Amino acid sequence: MPNWFQKDRFYRSGMTILIAFFASIGFGQEQDRKLPTIDKFYPESMLKNPKTDIRYARFAAVDIHSHMGLRLKGDRGGLQKYIEVMDRNHIALSVSLDARLGDEEKHLDFLQNDLDRLLVFAHIDFRGSGLQDRPETWACNQPGFVRTTCEQLKRARKKGIVGVKFFKQFGLTYRDARGELLKIDDEQWQPIWQTCGELEFPVLIHTGDPAAFFEPVTPRNERYEELFRHPEWSFHGEEFPTRNELLESRNRVIRRNPETVFIGAHLAGNPEDLETVGRWLAEFPNLYIEIASRIGELGRQPFTARDFVIENQDRILFGTDGPWPEERLGYYWRFLETNDEYFPYSEKRPQPQGLWFIYGLNLPDDVLRKIYYQNALRILPFSDKLYQRAAAELDQD
Ligand SMILES: [Zn+2]
Repeated sequence: MPNWFQKDRFYRSGMTILIAFFASIGFGQEQDRKLPTIDKFYPESMLKNPKTDIRYARFAAVDIHSHMGLRLKGDRGGLQKYIEVMDRNHIALSVSLDARLGDEEKHLDFLQNDLDRLLVFAHIDFRGSGLQDRPETWACNQPGFVRTTCEQLKRARKKGIVGVKFFKQFGLTYRDARGELLKIDDEQWQPIWQTCGELEFPVLIHTGDPAAFFEPVTPRNERYEELFRHPEWSFHGEEFPTRNELLESRNRVIRRNPETVFIGAHLAGNPEDLETVGRWLAEFPNLYIEIASRIGELGRQPFTARDFVIENQDRILFGTDGPWPEERLGYYWRFLETNDEYFPYSEKRPQPQGLWFIYGLNLPDDVLRKIYYQNALRILPFSDKLYQRAAAELDQD
Protein backbone atom coordinates (compact mmCIF):
# COMPACT_ATOMS: atom_id res chain seq x y z
CA MET A 1 0.00 0.00 0.00
CA PRO A 2 1.51 3.32 -0.99
CA ASN A 3 2.42 5.54 1.82
CA TRP A 4 0.58 8.56 0.50
CA PHE A 5 -2.75 6.66 0.53
CA GLN A 6 -2.41 5.63 4.11
CA LYS A 7 -1.48 9.15 5.01
CA ASP A 8 -4.39 10.53 3.08
CA ARG A 9 -6.78 8.12 4.73
CA PHE A 10 -5.36 9.18 8.03
CA TYR A 11 -6.06 12.82 7.12
CA ARG A 12 -9.47 11.92 5.76
CA SER A 13 -10.61 10.18 8.90
CA GLY A 14 -9.11 12.99 10.96
CA MET A 15 -11.05 15.56 8.95
CA THR A 16 -14.23 13.54 9.31
CA ILE A 17 -13.90 13.54 13.09
CA LEU A 18 -13.15 17.27 13.15
CA ILE A 19 -16.10 18.07 10.91
CA ALA A 20 -18.36 15.94 13.04
CA PHE A 21 -17.03 17.67 16.14
CA PHE A 22 -17.62 21.22 14.83
CA ALA A 23 -20.96 20.19 13.39
CA SER A 24 -21.98 18.88 16.78
CA ILE A 25 -20.93 22.16 18.42
CA GLY A 26 -22.73 24.07 15.69
CA PHE A 27 -25.77 21.96 16.12
CA GLY A 28 -25.66 22.49 19.87
CA GLN A 29 -25.48 26.26 19.33
CA GLU A 30 -28.41 26.05 17.00
CA GLN A 31 -30.40 24.54 19.81
CA ASP A 32 -29.19 27.00 22.45
CA ARG A 33 -29.58 30.12 20.30
CA LYS A 34 -33.04 31.26 21.24
CA LEU A 35 -35.02 33.87 19.35
CA PRO A 36 -34.92 37.18 21.22
CA THR A 37 -38.14 37.97 23.01
CA ILE A 38 -40.34 40.49 21.22
CA ASP A 39 -39.48 43.31 23.64
CA LYS A 40 -35.82 42.94 22.61
CA PHE A 41 -36.61 43.44 18.93
CA TYR A 42 -36.99 47.04 17.86
CA PRO A 43 -35.72 47.42 14.31
CA GLU A 44 -34.70 50.80 12.95
CA SER A 45 -35.89 51.47 9.42
CA MET A 46 -33.26 51.31 6.67
CA LEU A 47 -35.40 53.26 4.20
CA LYS A 48 -33.55 56.18 2.65
CA ASN A 49 -36.51 58.50 2.42
CA PRO A 50 -36.94 62.12 3.54
CA LYS A 51 -36.71 62.86 7.24
CA THR A 52 -37.97 66.36 7.79
CA ASP A 53 -36.11 68.22 10.50
CA ILE A 54 -39.03 69.91 12.23
CA ARG A 55 -38.63 71.27 15.73
CA TYR A 56 -41.71 73.32 16.41
CA ALA A 57 -45.33 73.72 15.40
CA ARG A 58 -45.93 75.85 12.33
CA PHE A 59 -48.57 77.86 14.22
CA ALA A 60 -48.49 78.56 17.96
CA ALA A 61 -50.43 75.68 19.48
CA VAL A 62 -52.78 75.03 22.38
CA ASP A 63 -52.18 71.65 24.03
CA ILE A 64 -55.61 70.67 25.36
CA HIS A 65 -54.39 67.59 27.25
CA SER A 66 -51.47 67.74 29.66
CA HIS A 67 -50.75 66.51 33.18
CA MET A 68 -48.59 68.99 35.03
CA GLY A 69 -49.55 67.27 38.29
CA LEU A 70 -49.40 63.56 37.43
CA ARG A 71 -46.19 63.77 35.44
CA LEU A 72 -44.23 66.49 37.25
CA LYS A 73 -45.22 65.43 40.77
CA GLY A 74 -44.58 68.82 42.33
CA ASP A 75 -41.18 69.35 40.68
CA ARG A 76 -41.00 73.11 40.08
CA GLY A 77 -37.71 72.86 38.22
CA GLY A 78 -39.31 70.33 35.90
CA LEU A 79 -42.19 72.73 35.31
CA GLN A 80 -39.76 75.53 34.47
CA LYS A 81 -37.96 73.29 32.01
CA TYR A 82 -41.23 72.29 30.42
CA ILE A 83 -42.26 75.91 29.89
CA GLU A 84 -38.97 76.30 28.00
CA VAL A 85 -39.87 73.21 25.95
CA MET A 86 -43.21 74.87 25.17
CA ASP A 87 -41.34 78.00 24.06
CA ARG A 88 -39.02 76.09 21.76
CA ASN A 89 -41.88 74.03 20.29
CA HIS A 90 -44.32 76.90 19.77
CA ILE A 91 -46.86 75.72 22.31
CA ALA A 92 -48.49 78.94 23.46
CA LEU A 93 -50.81 77.41 26.04
CA SER A 94 -51.17 74.04 27.72
CA VAL A 95 -54.21 72.82 29.62
CA SER A 96 -53.29 70.95 32.79
CA LEU A 97 -56.06 68.53 33.73
CA ASP A 98 -54.75 67.85 37.19
CA ALA A 99 -56.48 70.15 39.68
CA ARG A 100 -58.72 68.29 42.11
CA LEU A 101 -62.18 69.76 42.42
CA GLY A 102 -62.61 71.24 45.90
CA ASP A 103 -58.84 71.48 46.35
CA GLU A 104 -57.89 73.42 43.23
CA GLU A 105 -55.55 75.75 45.14
CA LYS A 106 -52.93 73.06 45.53
CA HIS A 107 -52.44 72.66 41.79
CA LEU A 108 -52.94 76.35 41.02
CA ASP A 109 -50.30 77.12 43.60
CA PHE A 110 -47.82 74.80 41.94
CA LEU A 111 -48.50 76.46 38.60
CA GLN A 112 -48.69 80.01 39.94
CA ASN A 113 -45.69 81.49 38.09
CA ASP A 114 -46.85 80.21 34.73
CA LEU A 115 -50.58 80.85 34.69
CA ASP A 116 -50.05 83.10 31.67
CA ARG A 117 -49.19 79.89 29.77
CA LEU A 118 -51.34 77.30 31.50
CA LEU A 119 -55.09 76.78 31.74
CA VAL A 120 -56.42 74.42 34.36
CA PHE A 121 -59.21 71.82 34.40
CA ALA A 122 -60.36 70.11 37.58
CA HIS A 123 -61.32 66.46 37.97
CA ILE A 124 -64.05 65.25 40.25
CA ASP A 125 -62.78 63.20 43.14
CA PHE A 126 -65.15 60.24 43.26
CA ARG A 127 -63.31 58.39 46.00
CA GLY A 128 -62.51 61.24 48.40
CA SER A 129 -61.04 59.84 51.62
CA GLY A 130 -62.77 56.48 51.04
CA LEU A 131 -60.89 53.20 51.04
CA GLN A 132 -59.79 51.90 47.65
CA ASP A 133 -61.53 48.53 47.80
CA ARG A 134 -64.58 49.59 49.82
CA PRO A 135 -66.83 51.56 47.48
CA GLU A 136 -69.43 52.10 50.19
CA THR A 137 -66.90 54.48 51.83
CA TRP A 138 -66.34 56.52 48.66
CA ALA A 139 -67.40 60.17 48.45
CA CYS A 140 -69.57 59.51 45.38
CA ASN A 141 -71.67 57.04 47.36
CA GLN A 142 -72.50 59.45 50.20
CA PRO A 143 -75.74 61.47 50.17
CA GLY A 144 -75.43 64.96 48.71
CA PHE A 145 -72.38 64.16 46.56
CA VAL A 146 -73.84 65.50 43.33
CA ARG A 147 -75.18 68.69 44.98
CA THR A 148 -71.81 69.35 46.63
CA THR A 149 -70.01 68.71 43.35
CA CYS A 150 -72.19 71.26 41.53
CA GLU A 151 -71.46 73.86 44.21
CA GLN A 152 -67.75 73.10 43.97
CA LEU A 153 -67.87 73.53 40.21
CA LYS A 154 -69.35 77.01 40.60
CA ARG A 155 -66.70 77.97 43.14
CA ALA A 156 -63.96 76.50 40.94
CA ARG A 157 -64.89 78.80 38.09
CA LYS A 158 -64.36 81.79 40.39
CA LYS A 159 -60.91 80.44 41.26
CA GLY A 160 -59.95 80.35 37.60
CA ILE A 161 -60.68 76.73 36.63
CA VAL A 162 -61.89 76.58 33.01
CA GLY A 163 -63.06 73.00 32.49
CA VAL A 164 -63.59 69.54 33.93
CA LYS A 165 -61.77 66.26 33.35
CA PHE A 166 -63.13 62.74 33.78
CA PHE A 167 -60.65 59.88 34.04
CA LYS A 168 -61.22 56.59 32.24
CA GLN A 169 -62.03 54.82 35.49
CA PHE A 170 -65.41 56.59 35.41
CA GLY A 171 -67.71 53.90 34.02
CA LEU A 172 -64.93 51.32 33.98
CA THR A 173 -64.06 50.63 37.62
CA TYR A 174 -65.92 53.03 39.97
CA ARG A 175 -68.61 51.18 41.93
CA ASP A 176 -71.63 52.04 44.01
CA ALA A 177 -72.20 51.07 47.65
CA ARG A 178 -73.50 47.64 46.59
CA GLY A 179 -70.44 47.04 44.45
CA GLU A 180 -72.20 47.55 41.10
CA LEU A 181 -70.40 49.54 38.40
CA LEU A 182 -71.40 53.20 38.30
CA LYS A 183 -72.70 54.00 34.83
CA ILE A 184 -71.54 57.07 32.92
CA ASP A 185 -75.12 57.79 31.86
CA ASP A 186 -76.63 57.23 35.31
CA GLU A 187 -79.41 59.81 35.78
CA GLN A 188 -77.93 60.90 39.09
CA TRP A 189 -75.03 62.72 37.35
CA GLN A 190 -77.36 64.82 35.22
CA PRO A 191 -77.00 67.99 37.36
CA ILE A 192 -73.19 67.80 36.96
CA TRP A 193 -73.37 67.80 33.15
CA GLN A 194 -75.93 70.59 33.28
CA THR A 195 -73.82 72.71 35.62
CA CYS A 196 -70.77 72.29 33.37
CA GLY A 197 -72.89 73.57 30.49
CA GLU A 198 -74.12 76.58 32.45
CA LEU A 199 -70.57 77.46 33.53
CA GLU A 200 -69.30 76.95 29.96
CA PHE A 201 -66.88 74.34 31.25
CA PRO A 202 -65.83 71.96 28.47
CA VAL A 203 -65.89 68.39 29.79
CA LEU A 204 -62.82 66.44 28.71
CA ILE A 205 -63.84 62.84 29.16
CA HIS A 206 -61.61 59.83 28.73
CA THR A 207 -63.77 56.81 27.96
CA GLY A 208 -62.58 53.47 26.65
CA ASP A 209 -59.00 52.65 25.72
CA PRO A 210 -57.29 50.92 22.81
CA ALA A 211 -59.57 48.25 21.35
CA ALA A 212 -56.87 45.66 21.99
CA PHE A 213 -57.07 46.29 25.77
CA PHE A 214 -60.57 44.80 25.76
CA GLU A 215 -59.55 41.68 23.84
CA PRO A 216 -58.06 38.48 25.30
CA VAL A 217 -54.31 38.77 25.91
CA THR A 218 -53.15 36.20 23.37
CA PRO A 219 -50.56 36.23 20.55
CA ARG A 220 -53.35 37.44 18.23
CA ASN A 221 -53.73 40.62 20.28
CA GLU A 222 -52.04 43.50 18.43
CA ARG A 223 -50.82 44.95 21.75
CA TYR A 224 -49.77 41.56 23.18
CA GLU A 225 -46.28 42.53 24.34
CA GLU A 226 -47.54 45.79 25.85
CA LEU A 227 -50.30 44.02 27.79
CA PHE A 228 -47.73 41.46 28.83
CA ARG A 229 -45.62 44.27 30.30
CA HIS A 230 -48.71 46.00 31.76
CA PRO A 231 -51.29 43.38 32.69
CA GLU A 232 -53.16 46.10 34.61
CA TRP A 233 -54.08 47.73 31.28
CA SER A 234 -56.15 44.77 30.19
CA PHE A 235 -59.87 45.34 30.60
CA HIS A 236 -60.88 42.01 29.19
CA GLY A 237 -63.09 39.95 31.46
CA GLU A 238 -66.43 39.80 33.19
CA GLU A 239 -65.61 42.41 35.81
CA PHE A 240 -65.40 45.07 33.07
CA PRO A 241 -68.07 46.53 30.83
CA THR A 242 -67.43 46.09 27.13
CA ARG A 243 -65.76 48.93 25.28
CA ASN A 244 -68.89 49.43 23.25
CA GLU A 245 -71.07 49.72 26.35
CA LEU A 246 -68.75 52.40 27.70
CA LEU A 247 -68.70 54.43 24.49
CA GLU A 248 -72.48 54.14 24.04
CA SER A 249 -73.07 55.15 27.63
CA ARG A 250 -70.87 58.24 27.15
CA ASN A 251 -72.63 59.06 23.89
CA ARG A 252 -76.04 59.01 25.62
CA VAL A 253 -74.73 61.70 28.00
CA ILE A 254 -73.51 63.81 25.07
CA ARG A 255 -76.88 63.42 23.33
CA ARG A 256 -78.82 64.29 26.48
CA ASN A 257 -76.80 67.46 27.18
CA PRO A 258 -76.56 69.46 23.96
CA GLU A 259 -75.70 72.66 25.84
CA THR A 260 -72.55 71.13 27.31
CA VAL A 261 -69.35 70.87 25.26
CA PHE A 262 -67.65 67.49 25.50
CA ILE A 263 -64.10 66.77 24.43
CA GLY A 264 -63.70 63.05 23.73
CA ALA A 265 -60.15 62.31 24.87
CA HIS A 266 -57.89 60.26 22.55
CA LEU A 267 -60.15 60.47 19.45
CA ALA A 268 -63.19 59.82 21.67
CA GLY A 269 -61.63 56.51 22.65
CA ASN A 270 -62.07 54.97 19.22
CA PRO A 271 -59.16 55.82 16.89
CA GLU A 272 -59.25 52.32 15.38
CA ASP A 273 -62.65 53.10 13.86
CA LEU A 274 -62.58 56.62 12.46
CA GLU A 275 -65.69 56.06 10.39
CA THR A 276 -67.70 55.60 13.57
CA VAL A 277 -66.06 58.61 15.25
CA GLY A 278 -67.00 60.62 12.16
CA ARG A 279 -70.64 59.55 12.60
CA TRP A 280 -70.56 60.65 16.24
CA LEU A 281 -69.18 64.05 15.26
CA ALA A 282 -71.94 64.41 12.68
CA GLU A 283 -74.59 63.46 15.22
CA PHE A 284 -73.33 65.55 18.18
CA PRO A 285 -72.48 69.18 17.42
CA ASN A 286 -71.36 69.55 21.07
CA LEU A 287 -68.64 66.88 20.70
CA TYR A 288 -64.99 67.71 20.05
CA ILE A 289 -62.13 65.23 19.99
CA GLU A 290 -58.39 65.46 20.61
CA ILE A 291 -55.40 63.43 19.43
CA ALA A 292 -53.22 63.07 22.56
CA SER A 293 -51.20 59.83 22.66
CA ARG A 294 -52.93 58.55 19.53
CA ILE A 295 -50.71 59.65 16.63
CA GLY A 296 -49.55 56.03 16.65
CA GLU A 297 -53.10 54.99 15.76
CA LEU A 298 -53.78 57.75 13.22
CA GLY A 299 -50.37 57.51 11.60
CA ARG A 300 -50.67 53.82 10.75
CA GLN A 301 -53.77 54.55 8.63
CA PRO A 302 -52.61 57.76 6.95
CA PHE A 303 -55.05 57.80 4.03
CA THR A 304 -58.10 57.26 6.21
CA ALA A 305 -56.77 59.58 8.91
CA ARG A 306 -56.02 62.43 6.51
CA ASP A 307 -59.51 62.27 5.00
CA PHE A 308 -61.02 62.07 8.47
CA VAL A 309 -59.08 65.06 9.81
CA ILE A 310 -59.89 67.21 6.81
CA GLU A 311 -63.56 66.22 6.95
CA ASN A 312 -63.76 67.03 10.68
CA GLN A 313 -61.29 69.90 10.81
CA ASP A 314 -63.58 72.11 12.92
CA ARG A 315 -63.86 69.58 15.73
CA ILE A 316 -60.36 68.24 16.29
CA LEU A 317 -58.00 69.60 18.94
CA PHE A 318 -54.28 69.22 19.44
CA GLY A 319 -53.20 67.42 22.63
CA THR A 320 -50.14 65.50 23.83
CA ASP A 321 -50.86 63.87 27.22
CA GLY A 322 -47.46 65.32 28.27
CA PRO A 323 -45.17 66.66 29.59
CA TRP A 324 -43.04 64.16 27.68
CA PRO A 325 -39.39 64.34 26.65
CA GLU A 326 -39.04 67.04 23.99
CA GLU A 327 -38.32 64.49 21.29
CA ARG A 328 -41.92 63.24 21.53
CA LEU A 329 -43.30 66.61 20.50
CA GLY A 330 -41.20 66.50 17.36
CA TYR A 331 -43.09 63.39 16.26
CA TYR A 332 -46.39 65.27 16.58
CA TRP A 333 -45.18 68.08 14.32
CA ARG A 334 -43.75 65.60 11.86
CA PHE A 335 -46.96 63.57 11.85
CA LEU A 336 -49.26 66.54 11.32
CA GLU A 337 -47.17 68.68 8.99
CA THR A 338 -45.00 66.46 6.76
CA ASN A 339 -45.44 63.59 4.37
CA ASP A 340 -42.53 61.67 5.87
CA GLU A 341 -43.00 57.92 5.75
CA TYR A 342 -42.54 55.09 8.18
CA PHE A 343 -41.12 56.82 11.25
CA PRO A 344 -41.57 56.21 14.99
CA TYR A 345 -44.27 58.00 16.98
CA SER A 346 -42.34 57.94 20.24
CA GLU A 347 -38.78 58.21 21.52
CA LYS A 348 -39.30 55.03 23.57
CA ARG A 349 -37.95 51.65 22.46
CA PRO A 350 -39.80 49.48 21.96
CA GLN A 351 -42.55 51.76 20.66
CA PRO A 352 -44.88 51.93 23.66
CA GLN A 353 -48.32 51.75 22.03
CA GLY A 354 -48.09 49.17 19.29
CA LEU A 355 -45.04 47.84 17.43
CA TRP A 356 -45.44 49.77 14.21
CA PHE A 357 -44.34 52.97 12.47
CA ILE A 358 -46.36 55.89 11.16
CA TYR A 359 -46.77 58.18 8.17
CA GLY A 360 -47.26 61.94 8.12
CA LEU A 361 -50.55 63.58 7.13
CA ASN A 362 -49.09 66.67 5.48
CA LEU A 363 -52.13 68.75 6.48
CA PRO A 364 -52.84 72.05 4.74
CA ASP A 365 -52.15 75.26 6.67
CA ASP A 366 -55.80 76.22 7.19
CA VAL A 367 -56.49 72.81 8.77
CA LEU A 368 -53.37 73.03 10.92
CA ARG A 369 -54.48 76.42 12.24
CA LYS A 370 -57.81 75.00 13.34
CA ILE A 371 -56.31 71.98 15.03
CA TYR A 372 -53.43 73.82 16.65
CA TYR A 373 -55.44 76.65 18.17
CA GLN A 374 -58.58 78.01 16.50
CA ASN A 375 -60.90 75.18 17.61
CA ALA A 376 -59.51 75.25 21.14
CA LEU A 377 -59.93 79.00 21.54
CA ARG A 378 -63.57 78.65 20.49
CA ILE A 379 -64.43 76.36 23.42
CA LEU A 380 -61.96 77.33 26.16
CA PRO A 381 -63.19 80.12 28.42
CA PHE A 382 -60.73 83.00 28.96
CA SER A 383 -58.23 81.59 26.50
CA ASP A 384 -58.24 84.17 23.73
CA LYS A 385 -56.27 87.02 25.30
CA LEU A 386 -53.82 84.66 26.98
CA TYR A 387 -53.23 82.94 23.68
CA GLN A 388 -52.74 86.14 21.69
CA ARG A 389 -50.18 87.41 24.17
CA ALA A 390 -48.24 84.14 24.42
CA ALA A 391 -48.32 83.55 20.68
CA ALA A 392 -47.07 87.09 19.97
CA GLU A 393 -44.11 86.52 22.30
CA LEU A 394 -43.30 83.18 20.68
CA ASP A 395 -43.34 84.77 17.25
CA GLN A 396 -40.84 87.42 18.39
CA ASP A 397 -38.21 84.87 19.39
ZN1 LIG B 1 -54.21 61.96 29.93
